[in-house]
Amino acid sequence: MRRVSIFGATGSIGQNTLDLIARAPEDYDVVALTGGRNIAHLARDAISLNADVAVTAHENLLDDLRDALAGTGIEAAAGTQALNEAAARPADWVMSAIIGAAGLAPGLTALQQGATLALANKESLVTAGPLLMETARKHNATVLPVDSEHSAIFQGLVGEDLSAVERIIITASGGAFRDWPLDKLAGATLAQASSHPNWDMGQRITIDSASMFNKALEVIETKEFFGVLPEQIEVLVHPESMVHALVGFNDGALMAHVGAPDMRHAIGYALHWPERRQLPVERLDLAQIGQLTFRAPDPQRYPALRLAQEVMQTGGMMGAIFNGAKERALDAFIAGQIGFLDMARVVEDVMTQLSSDNGLIGADFTLDNVSKADQMARYRADQIMAAQEAE
Ligand code: NDP
Repeated sequence: MRRVSIFGATGSIGQNTLDLIARAPEDYDVVALTGGRNIAHLARDAISLNADVAVTAHENLLDDLRDALAGTGIEAAAGTQALNEAAARPADWVMSAIIGAAGLAPGLTALQQGATLALANKESLVTAGPLLMETARKHNATVLPVDSEHSAIFQGLVGEDLSAVERIIITASGGAFRDWPLDKLAGATLAQASSHPNWDMGQRITIDSASMFNKALEVIETKEFFGVLPEQIEVLVHPESMVHALVGFNDGALMAHVGAPDMRHAIGYALHWPERRQLPVERLDLAQIGQLTFRAPDPQRYPALRLAQEVMQTGGMMGAIFNGAKERALDAFIAGQIGFLDMARVVEDVMTQLSSDNGLIGADFTLDNVSKADQMARYRADQIMAAQEAE
């Protein structure tokens, strides 16, 4: 039996992970399940999979969780510290699927125990790639990508020599507004931005797909995970979302990973790695699909991609600054405080303001410094948005 823990169990990736685990419960000993506000689902899944402990990120919800688990013998815990304690419990395989920068600390703790970390939380690599990868090396732990593009690249590299890789191409659906006239984007509503043409995902990543902030994060994630140069990474708009990524080699060959847009593929690959096992995902009928299309991303429509280049050129804490500012701008868009296009403006302004702070940008990669850069970016984003509102 493999001991597994799922961080972010109540979210979209978490639920897909539990779906795979629930199909073979005899293979898994579930150690910890964690969630945020969705106590009912957290308790339901902890009971049905007989987890040792269930943790909510919110201390004020501990009593609700305790009530929901009363009489089951499953421990209930709450708060950031409790999340880290859950990550310190021995487990063979840990799914990192908390959304946002909050996913970093538990992932690092799991790696320090030598666990295999299935990484959906791309923010961990964007904010603290060198720290995460170094922690894994130091503790002889493994990080496996779960983002569909990065899983595709990882699979394309099996048996290959990284030095023979010329380029990596990650695809993007183009999100909800890929075909909208540019002059209409400023008026895009929350409901419109929250609907994805192909993938069924959490609300935040769906909006990030519409703005391409998600792809911007993935470009940085590619650099950090595979250790390639920024100029080796390309983004290609592929509206059908069936080719997830391509690896280009020095002999001109392009290896593409093709599959249905279903996250259980990438999750299942990480769960069973290094084996391949049967997965309950659709088998594509390419003759019926007929054609797959590709186009270059429009830099005017997707300023986030340019910002990702700046993050990679600057390095250091700029990833944490970029992500922290993006998370605050996204909060504000969801709350109806700023418009869709304002998100990129706010992020760019924060990056510009903080780019000359060499002490901040050049700080060593420690959890404390990453957290400081993240907090500073959120603070500056709030200031910028408050000033704009006052105008
Ligand atoms: P969801 O919003 O669906 O789920 C997020 C999970 O994190 C939930 O369990 C949520 O709890 C929990 N959570 C939210 N805030 C906090 C916090 N501050 N501390 C601890 N836990 C918290 O997100 P997704 O599943 O869509 O995405 C998860 C991660 O995977 C993200 O990093 C995303 O970029 C990445 N990813 C997602 C893909 C997808 O298909 N969804 C594809 C590839 C990558 P609750 O809901 O109970 O409040």
